[in-house]
This record gives sequence, C-alpha cells and structure tokens, in this order.
Amino acid sequence: MDRRNIELALTRRGMLAGLAVLAARPSWALPANPDVVVIGAGAAGIGAARRLAELKLSCVVVEAADRIGGRAYTDTTTFGMPFDIGCAWIHAADRNPFYKMAEADGFKLKYHDLTLNELYTMRARADAPALKREHEAEEVIHKRTAAIARRRDIPVSRAVPRWTQPFEAAATYLGPMDMAVDLNNLSTADFAQSADLDPNYLVYEGFGTVVARAGAELPVKLSTPVRKIDWSRKGNVAVETDAGTITARAAIVTVSTGVLAAGSIRFDPVLPDWKQTAIGCVPMGLLAKIPMLIPGERFGIKPYDNVLVEYPGRQDIYFLAWPWDSDLMVGFVGGDFGWQLSAAGEEAAIDFAKERLAQTFGSDAPKKVTKALFTKWASNPLTRGAYSAALPCHYVERERLGRPLGDTVFFAGEALAGPLIQTAGGAYLSGEATAKSVAAKLKV
Ligand SMILES: Cc1cc2nc3c(=O)[nH]c(=O)nc-3n(C[C@H](O)[C@H](O)[C@H](O)COP(=O)(O)OP(=O)(O)OC[C@H]3O[C@@H](n4cnc5c(N)ncnc54)[C@H](O)[C@@H]3O)c2cc1C
Repeated sequence: MDRRNIELALTRRGMLAGLAVLAARPSWALPANPDVVVIGAGAAGIGAARRLAELKLSCVVVEAADRIGGRAYTDTTTFGMPFDIGCAWIHAADRNPFYKMAEADGFKLKYHDLTLNELYTMRARADAPALKREHEAEEVIHKRTAAIARRRDIPVSRAVPRWTQPFEAAATYLGPMDMAVDLNNLSTADFAQSADLDPNYLVYEGFGTVVARAGAELPVKLSTPVRKIDWSRKGNVAVETDAGTITARAAIVTVSTGVLAAGSIRFDPVLPDWKQTAIGCVPMGLLAKIPMLIPGERFGIKPYDNVLVEYPGRQDIYFLAWPWDSDLMVGFVGGDFGWQLSAAGEEAAIDFAKERLAQTFGSDAPKKVTKALFTKWASNPLTRGAYSAALPCHYVERERLGRPLGDTVFFAGEALAGPLIQTAGGAYLSGEATAKSVAAKLKV
C-alpha cells in the first residue's frame, strides 16, 4: 500500500455511485424460507449477505432502522457537505474491503495520519519537545501493555508508569478517543491484540455512503425489527419480526453487544449463562462527535490536524480540524466523559465544545460557530454505544461471544473482528467469515 496522500479526483463514476445510493430503496416482500436470515444491515450484515450470495445461499437481511449501514451513516444535509455521524476513517486500508470498493467506485479518498500533532493543556500549546514526550508516552504504554498481555489480563491503566502530563495526554488519546473507553476499563489483552490501524483514509462522500453502496443491491427488509429468535428446534430457526416470522436453516446475528445486553431481542430458549456472561464482559464504549461549522476561521490550525485539548478531570476533547479544507471543526469526546455528556444532552455537549474553543482559541471563538450537532449513539436503541471494548480480565469472553448457539444461530460484527475489532472493515470481514462457517455447516 502506498501510504502517501492520494487524492482521487471526484469522478463521474463516484458521483453516480453516490446517486445510486440515494436512489436505492430496497423493498420487497419477506421470502418465507431463505437458507439464512441475517439480522442487521450494518457492515457485518452486508459482508455476510454478500458472501452468502457468492456461496449461492439464499438470504434475507432484516433491519430495524429505515436505512442500511448501522453505525456507518453519512449525513448529507446539515453542513452542506457529507458528514459521517458514525465511522469516518477507512482504517487498515491495506486490508479493508471498503477501501477497494471506494476506490473502484471512484470515491474521493485522502490518506490521514492520525498522529497527534497539536496538544493543548488548559490554554498552553505544547511545543515540539512536549509533543515528542506525548508520542514517547504512547509508545511506552503500547510496549508495556504488550509485555503485560503476554502474562496477564489487567486494566491498561496499570501499564502507565506515572501520571505525568505526557502520560495523561497519551492515556486520553489511546483510551477514550481511540478505544472509546478510559484505560482503567480496558483489558490489556484487548488493547494489545488490536491492530495498528494505519493506513487510514477519509472519504469525501462519507464512509457511510460507501457502506450503503455496498448493501444497495441486497435483499434488505428495512424498518423490520427482530423481536424474537426461536432456536429450540434442530436444523432450523424461526425469526419473529413485526412483518411476520421467517424460518431459515440458520440465522446470523450482527447487532451490537449493547443491543444484545439490553435484551431487545428475546431468545427462546433463553441465552445460556456463558453467552450472557460473554455479552456483559464485552460492553459498548462510547465515542461521540460534536462537529461545528466555523466559516472562514482557522485558529492557526491546519486542515487535518489532530488536536487534543486536555483539562483536569478527564474532560478532554479531540478535534479533527477542517477536513477537506472545509469549515468544520469536528470535536470528539469518549469514554466515561462521553457517556456523561450524552446524558446531559445535545445542548450541554455543544456548550461544552464551545467553551473549550473559547478556552483554547480565545473568547470570541464560540461566536463564530454557525451550526453544530452532537451524535446520539449512546441513546440510540439500535446501537447503545459506539463500539465494544472487553473489560479488564475478560478478553477471553470475546471468543465465547462469537460461539454459535446450537447448529442454527451464528454471530458476527465489530466485536468479533479479531485484530480489527471496533472497525467497520473488521465488521464486514467478520460477516464474511461467519457466512463461510454457516455455509460449511449447511454443507454448501
Ligand atoms: C462515533 C463513531 C465513530 C466511529 N469511527 C469509526 C471509524 O472512523 N472507522 C471505523 O472503521 N469504525 C468506526 N466506528 C465503528 C464502526 O462504525 C462500527 O464498528 C461498525 O459500523 C459496526 O458494524 P456492525 O455491522 O458490527 O454493527 P452495526 O452497524 O451496529 O449493525 C447492526 C445493525 O443491526 C440493526 N439492529 C439492531 N437491533 C435490531 C433488531 N432488533 N432487529 C433488526 N435489526 C437490528 C441496527 O440498526 C444496525 O443497522 C465508529 C463508530 C461510531 C459510533
């Protein structure tokens, strides 16, 4: 993979791909007896359904929301340019199927180095040596975590040698802003086995648009929540939806661990203890975005800069500055503080982000914000968080989380994506892998 910036011109094909997504309105009657029913039309469900089609198995995808994509969703109306409410970076592009699809469809892609390059502690801007110390602290945490993970599974916070300023900043950048949990809630094994996600690419048309495009031709039944999965019989499974019951030879469940933990889907027989424990041990972390439109301003910050603003009490914010040279300053909060701010609501979250702008770039800065929003993944009943992180001491539960129930109910999703956990590309690959296992079980 060439890691230099590549910018593909927005071709006619790319625009047509975007229009095709908008035009896609999957709708048809539920086929009574497909080979496989896939629950959820996010990245994993799409990966599973596409692979099932290649393996010549009939399938139906049932999706509770009124759109395809799940946690991949591009808003095209609020800011006058596409904005990803969910996933934005095509991580690990050298092995991410969405990168190839985006490239083939002529989407506009840009390599983005996620190394922290602007750090503010309270009002003080870190100079080059201070920034270097933060980079070294990240390296130390990575190395010590890897060493610990070979022997034990404990909180990653225990790999932090001392809580001096560079380590505080590194812990925030690696924890809430990346893994969506504070380091004291993150398993060393989980962190150590997750891949370095470079090369990372942004998509001008939105990552959500790429994912929706990948699912546009699939037999997806939208606005059809699954209420119950009856796996009591051998050889077939009955999936109850608001539009009727589908009986299939197998089901692939791709909903988040947050949705599973909430019990939104009833299982009959009830989930065995080992499965419920696994779901509880790999809970959802939170990453929430606060994009702000600030026309004609730059605050001395360059487009694509990664800016971390640190404040006591872990009330930190990361900004992706001016992507695509736009007027958007995209704030991110995560981990415990992300949940707190979500509970406080959109107005409080936007006020918080503006306050940080004022404290960092001057009291006039908030007045220049003309539009802002706060993403609501915490309260969304179809996700209940951003992505999963194993609790300390419980990394092994990821394996149980992925185990099938009997010979009919299989699982896929970002939580089961091995080194690419938490990512949309990983979710897609997990869907594909589960579809392959299902086909093997059905002896196709
Ligand atoms: C703010 C944020 C930023 C992120 N940034 C990135 C990033 O930059 N790069 C990256 O790769 N990843 C990122 N991620 C993570 C990425 O979006 C997810 O890992 C991925 O999209 C998950 O895909 P999935 O198919 O496993 O789950 P989902 O996308 O959650 O798909 C599951 C589907 O099941 C549906 N569903 C739920 N309940 C039911 C039911 N009862 N019946 C039927 N359907 C149901 C849901 O509506 C959903 O469509 C981000 C996530 C968030 C929230």
